[in-house]
Amino acid sequence: MRAMVTGGAGFIGSHLVELLIAEGHDVSIVDDLSTGKRTNILPEAHFYFADIRSEEIKDVISTERPDVIFHQAAQSSVKVSTDDPRRDADINILGLIRLLDAASASGVRKVVFASSGATYGNPQYLPMDEDHPQLPESPYGITKLMSEHYLKYYALDRGVAFTALRYGNVYGPRQDPHGEAGVVAIFTQQLLDGKTPTVHWDGKQTRDYVSVKDVARANLAAAFRGDGRAFCIGTGKGTSVNTIFSLLCKATGRDVEPMHSPRRPGDLRHAHFDCTRARKELGWTATMPLQQGLTDTVQAFREQIAAERKVLTVG
Ligand code: NAD
Repeated sequence: MRAMVTGGAGFIGSHLVELLIAEGHDVSIVDDLSTGKRTNILPEAHFYFADIRSEEIKDVISTERPDVIFHQAAQSSVKVSTDDPRRDADINILGLIRLLDAASASGVRKVVFASSGATYGNPQYLPMDEDHPQLPESPYGITKLMSEHYLKYYALDRGVAFTALRYGNVYGPRQDPHGEAGVVAIFTQQLLDGKTPTVHWDGKQTRDYVSVKDVARANLAAAFRGDGRAFCIGTGKGTSVNTIFSLLCKATGRDVEPMHSPRRPGDLRHAHFDCTRARKELGWTATMPLQQGLTDTVQAFREQIAAERKVLTVG
């Protein structure tokens, strides 16, 4: 397959590119490197340094003529979306529309979209499945939900098939440890730096932590199945922040008590998914055990830190 990954220099996108290349697909990447990194780009992929909102995107897509576009590029921070809703909508909505116009003009068969559990808002029941009401509580959740509607419209009106994957809390190597979200990356970096992480609230709040490797496999499965459908992509289990903290302490060899700070406004108590539909219709389930996934993440962060130190020493 000819595959294009928008946001392929980012955390999830770069793992997806790696998987697609390993499976023998022809891959191109579109990324403006706003949060993605040049060092995440595999040399086997054709890289286009471009903003999905630019005119240029039409030429890039008509040159590459991908069969499937995996649309990972986004303004992906809830905090940025609440601080600047216009920026969030500009990238996430207008960027998507620009991409879909270009895709339909070039005969792209399908767009696999990175949606989010944030489209649900406060859970009304657990585990949440695809039929759970979507009542997002942040501009980011709103733009992800609107994106699903635009995808439906372009499928009906212009014949570009789609699948929307509503990810849980994705973790793994290459996640940015300096953002507001991504507790695994933040704790890992701090523990390896000899710092003491802060747990918000009482740490008993739970989330569905899914490995980036599993998320990449879900995307690949969705290239060939699940047209016109949305899927919850998680493990089906909720894990508390306290459990994540203690597993990461074990994996990093640190023996510390976390600091605590009050609950942040809008923080949910519990959230996890029922992923039966993904199993039945995509043939996908999360297979990475949490402890293994966290250990692999710590190992990758260690290697990253060592590589950065080497560059500094040589420089
Ligand atoms: P990320 O920030 O690492 O990746 C996003 C990539 O998109 C970056 O490489 C960035 O440079 C690129 N990008 C941003 N704006 C762009 C633009 N206008 N034009 C071209 N490229 C642009 O984030 P991530 O965690 O890898 O997220 C990937 C996708 O998954 C996003 O759509 C995000 O909303 C979604 N998602 C992530 C999670 C999670 O837990 N990480 C959960 C749910 C959904």
